[in-house]
Amino acid sequence: QKFVYNFGSQTDGNATMRELLGGKGANLAEMASIGLPVPPGFTISTEVCTYFYDHDRTYPASLAEDVKQAIQSVAEQMGRGFGDAANPLLVSVRSGARDSMPGMMDTILNLGLNDETVEGLAKISGNPSFAWDCYRRFIQMYGDVVMGVEAANEESEDPFHVILEETKKAAGKAQDNELTEDELKELVVKYKALIARETGSEFPQDAYDQLWGAVGAVFGSWKNERAILYRQQYGIPAEWGTAVNVQAMVFGNAGNDSGTGVAFTRDPASGEKVFYGEYLTNAQGEDVVAGVRTPKAIAEMADELPENFADLEKVRARLEEHFKDMQDFEFTIEGGRLFILQTRNGKRTGLAAIRIAVEMNKEGLIDQKTALLMIPAESVDTLLVPVFDPEAQEAAKKICGGLPAGPGAATGRIAFTAAQAEIEARKGNKVILCRSETSPDDLKGMLHSQGILTTRGGVSSHAALVARQLGKVCVCGAGDITINYEKKTLVANGVTLKEGDYISINGTTGSVYEGLIESADSEVKRVLEGTLKAEESYTYQLFQTVMDWSDEFRTLRIRTNADTSAMAEQAVAFGAEGIGLCRTEHMFFEGSRIDDMRQMILAVDGVQRREALKKLLPMQRQDFVGLFRAMGDRPVTIRLLDPPLHEFLPHDDAVRRQLADKLGLPLEFVIDRIKALHEENPMLGCRGCRLGILYPEITEMQVQAVFEAVAEIKTNDGTEVNPEIMIPLVGFKAELADQLKVVRRVAEQVMKDKGVTIDYLVGTMVEVPRAAITADEIAEQAEFFSFGTNDLTQTTLGLSRDDMGLFYDEYQRKEIYSKNPFASLDKTGVGKLMQFAVANGKQTRPDLKLGICGEHAGDPSSIDFCHNLGLQYVSCSPPRVPIARLAAAQAAL
Ligand code: PEP
Ligand code: MG
Repeated sequence: QKFVYNFGSQTDGNATMRELLGGKGANLAEMASIGLPVPPGFTISTEVCTYFYDHDRTYPASLAEDVKQAIQSVAEQMGRGFGDAANPLLVSVRSGARDSMPGMMDTILNLGLNDETVEGLAKISGNPSFAWDCYRRFIQMYGDVVMGVEAANEESEDPFHVILEETKKAAGKAQDNELTEDELKELVVKYKALIARETGSEFPQDAYDQLWGAVGAVFGSWKNERAILYRQQYGIPAEWGTAVNVQAMVFGNAGNDSGTGVAFTRDPASGEKVFYGEYLTNAQGEDVVAGVRTPKAIAEMADELPENFADLEKVRARLEEHFKDMQDFEFTIEGGRLFILQTRNGKRTGLAAIRIAVEMNKEGLIDQKTALLMIPAESVDTLLVPVFDPEAQEAAKKICGGLPAGPGAATGRIAFTAAQAEIEARKGNKVILCRSETSPDDLKGMLHSQGILTTRGGVSSHAALVARQLGKVCVCGAGDITINYEKKTLVANGVTLKEGDYISINGTTGSVYEGLIESADSEVKRVLEGTLKAEESYTYQLFQTVMDWSDEFRTLRIRTNADTSAMAEQAVAFGAEGIGLCRTEHMFFEGSRIDDMRQMILAVDGVQRREALKKLLPMQRQDFVGLFRAMGDRPVTIRLLDPPLHEFLPHDDAVRRQLADKLGLPLEFVIDRIKALHEENPMLGCRGCRLGILYPEITEMQVQAVFEAVAEIKTNDGTEVNPEIMIPLVGFKAELADQLKVVRRVAEQVMKDKGVTIDYLVGTMVEVPRAAITADEIAEQAEFFSFGTNDLTQTTLGLSRDDMGLFYDEYQRKEIYSKNPFASLDKTGVGKLMQFAVANGKQTRPDLKLGICGEHAGDPSSIDFCHNLGLQYVSCSPPRVPIARLAAAQAAL
């Protein structure tokens, strides 16, 4: 089996072989084969990494011989010998995963130097202090990375650095590169002594020993803490592994006509087409990154090294032309000769991703499809959310971090209760609602807040879900914060803030700051609202271009989860084509409605309950009229009441008393009823369709409100509305049959009373495994399925939506969940149930309508899955509609 791939005079790989060669190895091969000046080398494939971890950190038997041959070939091409005392070949050893993980894994430079070869290098370069500088750098890196000599903890200094500083001080030198040959020799002696002292082993002198040590360290670094953390952040699977690249060294520290740098073919922050980067003369790669000396802007090179700069400009153009993407590349100039050491698609901000894609298309470099595929769908968000002024954010004091749950920037006064949030907001103040966690009681406070900060709860906790749906900024699960409701204080990492103090949260990064940070509405939002002209906003034009292209290619429909006409309007402005989920319970939170709702819940029998429902009927009908108007003739799915009723009841004694007074009921009665409705496990209790089965009068009222609203719109506006009634939490076809009967009876009655005919559908949510497993039976009753993947995930994984805080970090650290299953669909588990449900549901009813309305409907990789599953639509929160449009297009491409 082939484990080693050469690049140079003979090149075995190419850019398409990322899986095997890693991103760096694949691109080195590609650059070598298109004639760019790449120092020769070879790549040990990711399969060896897999073998390494499967076989107790050992290698395939044939590897040693293959590596030996490869290194001899590199030596020949360079006219040198590996370990040859007179004319030594030096190499770099670097990691390279399929997706770049900048700085996360280990690198070793100048490998091949020892007490003898350093003399050889001194002679052939005619520059002994250069040779000794390389040697001391190599010992330092090798000592750290391979032999584990490093700072004892975060506060203490790197021991090599300490010795370097002492030596510089004794010699009276300010800069590393001012040290003389003798001083560098002394440094080498001290470094080797340090290693022997710390590890009990000598620094290895044999070049092959060095090489195998370095290769092992690079493979080993795939599982270092940093790398694991990075993989979690970016959803990179642990199974991928890294490749190892061994490449002939070229020297940027060989004199003043040498240098090294890092450059981007376009500005990675703004996306503007300008050459961007920095370099240092007489330096090696790590000097630029390490900040030992301050690098110069790439533009200065035009004066300092004009010929090299001209070459570099050519390389810049060639790289973009060839790789058809913005490149981030490393170069070294040795004695006036330019070499390219690495290139990769550059990391960029969301804005830059969009701008680069659109402009590269306009420049004729890529077609529309390629452009769309180049934009991470999430990055559309960066054009929509309010932003912090970058300088102000930089200057602010960060007090802790949490989960970035609702993107954007929000600043305001701290309120610890929903009521306080409302009071502050009515005073005209901006508010950040800070809670341990939120409940439906807090919705009003959330509406009055700029942003929501919670100390518990994950990305699909109540706070996060509602925040995203409302387009509110949200940081949740900020575990370092302690809120004391009594003292009205918030403490985080030694900082104490009081109610009314300013706090700022960045829901895109999850950071929390003390004090006020200035922010502004996005330009796109201002254009959509009409306060800014489209032609005055380049950002808006970019947004619109991407949306137009997306709509051309996608086949999935994009609906939204909305419960108010305001949300519906916003979603339509963002391009929503219907409502896939109206959570009717949300309609009862506003104003005094909650009390009418509470009266209904407290009712002891059907008669009392009907009385209370009579009050709710006109409100609900008016809401539906508003919602249908906002949506025009677009389809609207109304879900019947879902949550456990006691969630609406007050937990606070004072509020209970108020409620009793208001309803003219004895306090004890209210307390007893609340007790009677208490459930240990409400999420698996009397909720969903069980409510309507137990209290059919609730279903009757809701259906009546829907159909009367439709009749009103039909008569007054002449608009054809075709409502879709959705029954939640169904697991048995008999449950559905029970509710279906009520729905049809009331619908018929209203149509008869109003003298209209209304085409409507009745369907179900598929959100418990039993519904998916018996989809063939359920489909006998249901005209559509909408996957409620929040509950389907909760019930399939046996994992509470609201309580994963205690173990989630450990699960992430151990890479048990590659992604949060509530944010990104668990395709192998929950996804399989969905597949099964689709196939079996369609067998019973070939024209079964299929959609998804869980939070996953706004997640690009889940959208891709839904596209492939053959769903007709995804329904996400309004602010995610544009992301979903792009993600749906990408899924179709
Ligand atoms: C779901 O469970 O996925 C769903 C959409 O319903 P809810 O989040 O309201 O429980
Ligand atoms: Mg649900």
